Amino acid sequence: MTEINSNDVDFFKELLTQQLNELLSNAEKTVGTMVHDGEWAADPVDQASMETDRAYTLRIRDRESHLIKKINAALTKIEEGSFGICENCGEEISLARLKVRPVASHCIQCKTKMEAFEKVSGPEA
Ligand SMILES: [Zn+2]
Repeated sequence: MTEINSNDVDFFKELLTQQLNELLSNAEKTVGTMVHDGEWAADPVDQASMETDRAYTLRIRDRESHLIKKINAALTKIEEGSFGICENCGEEISLARLKVRPVASHCIQCKTKMEAFEKVSGPEA
């Protein structure tokens, strides 16, 4: 048996579903803002700052879509009954770690080992 009981799974399912809904509604808002911004591209200075805003917005959206994928993956694992199992070594991820990071797909030992690589390729969102 795992450390995580069915009450915990329900808790994480609710938490992740809530986070997913928030992210999805934010993503819709971002699209709306971008369309609106395109309407007043007259002044070159405005245009330049708008390009920066757009790059920034796209970067945020990129991070959001990355997180959305991770949340979906975690929700799939909940359905499959493999939530809280490390993808690398198959050991349980501690409940304390999952409470901090419900989308965690690796136990702290594997994560620590991976962190050396992530420092080069950028942190996990
Ligand atoms: Zn592991």
